[in-house]
Amino acid sequence: MRRFLNRYYLLILGGVLLLLAGVGLNLGGGSAPWISLVLFMAAVLLFASTVPVLHFTLLRPYHHLRRQADAFARRCFGEVPCDQGDLEGFAEGLQQLGDAVDQADLRTRELEATVKVYALEKEQMETILWSLPIAILVTDRFNELLMANDAAQRMFGFQRQEGNPRPMEEILPWAELVDLIKGTAERKLKVPRRTVELNRDLEEETRIYRVTLASITDHADEILCVVTIIQDITKDREIERMKSEFVANVSHELKAPLGAIKAYSEMLLDGEAKDEASRLEFMEVIAQETDRLSGMIENLLDLSRLEAGVVQMNMQRLNLINLLQSVVTTIRPSAEMKKIDLETDISQYIVPVTGDEEQLGRVFMNLLSNAVKYTPEGGKVDLTARLEGDFIRVDVADTGYGIPEEDLPRIFEKFFRVKKNRKVAKGTGMGLAMVKRILEIHNAEIKVESEPGKGSCFTVFIPAAK
Ligand code: ADP
Repeated sequence: MRRFLNRYYLLILGGVLLLLAGVGLNLGGGSAPWISLVLFMAAVLLFASTVPVLHFTLLRPYHHLRRQADAFARRCFGEVPCDQGDLEGFAEGLQQLGDAVDQADLRTRELEATVKVYALEKEQMETILWSLPIAILVTDRFNELLMANDAAQRMFGFQRQEGNPRPMEEILPWAELVDLIKGTAERKLKVPRRTVELNRDLEEETRIYRVTLASITDHADEILCVVTIIQDITKDREIERMKSEFVANVSHELKAPLGAIKAYSEMLLDGEAKDEASRLEFMEVIAQETDRLSGMIENLLDLSRLEAGVVQMNMQRLNLINLLQSVVTTIRPSAEMKKIDLETDISQYIVPVTGDEEQLGRVFMNLLSNAVKYTPEGGKVDLTARLEGDFIRVDVADTGYGIPEEDLPRIFEKFFRVKKNRKVAKGTGMGLAMVKRILEIHNAEIKVESEPGKGSCFTVFIPAAK
């Protein structure tokens, strides 16, 4: 009906006007006939003028608007039927457009969430990279530094500004590394990843680094960037060196008593000990060397147990005065044999400490017996103990052979023995390593001062019991 009205309203309007004209004629019937004629003519004129007016004022904009809406609806929803003049279709189209906008809105929100997740993951990756203790550098194919983590900045002493790539030669003070990275970017490497070891001479020392280089390419096999990972392995190398030295030392130290036992037992078997006295002498040497051997093995086991943390410590409040006095009493006979003046000055005001009596006893026994061992006859050994702040300070000083300055940093290493003093006394080189470990367990510290030919002083600081 509405469509019908839309389409034929001009005719309806014309009919209404003609009706009005007819009425006008009828009205004019009672009066002068020219009035009816004038009224009729006016109606016809009015009808004739209304058509273009209506056409230009209402119909044209209406059709224009409808065509636009139709085209718009078709453009948006090609499949939507949009007949001429069908505004319902357009409304339906608008409804679908609204739905599509809602869908797009939902999709946008989903995308926003995905972008946030990616941003979070990127942030996490960056945090991990930044906090890794190994240095990581990322350079582009033009050898500009794109990224350097915290460890790398500390290693090479620079601070990289974000979003400001700079040629790496300007930043990295290590020509050898720069050349390696450049070589990787220029594909001088046959493999996409390789690891090399480089020595770097610094002012005071030479450090060893393990450098891993990897090139990252795009799908067209063009180099995008080079990732360089640098690990400082100086300490690992040092530990490896110490391990092999330790094995060599163990073998060497075990060999000496074993050799003596073998030689003397063979002599006995060959009947080279002609009399009872010689036989006894040979057997005594074998017994002594066997004791030395078992002592060494015992020490070795003790040390490895201490290092592995499997020694049960019996920590208790203990009085160092009694402990030190009993150690001095044990050592005094060997000091007297060498005519060494062993003096003690133990303050009566030292407070108790928390520790394992047996293990702390071992510490001072070792220090005091070393002082006697490495001091020539007629020398002097002093043991003093006093309270110093929150610590008990114990000094063991001697007027012995002393330790060369270059050997001082190694004195607490397992099996380390000062070469010059090897002949002075027998030993295993494990005593001070054990001392150090026991003191570490007690949160205590030890330091040594020594001057060759004048003597040494070992100082222990043990925290007072709370
Ligand atoms: P050792 O069984 O050889 O005595 P230690 O571990 O107790 O082993 O000592 C390691 C080395 O330190 C000794 O071989 C010795 O050369 C040196 N040393 C230790 N104490 C003294 C000291 N008081 N005076 C001089 N040298 C010492």
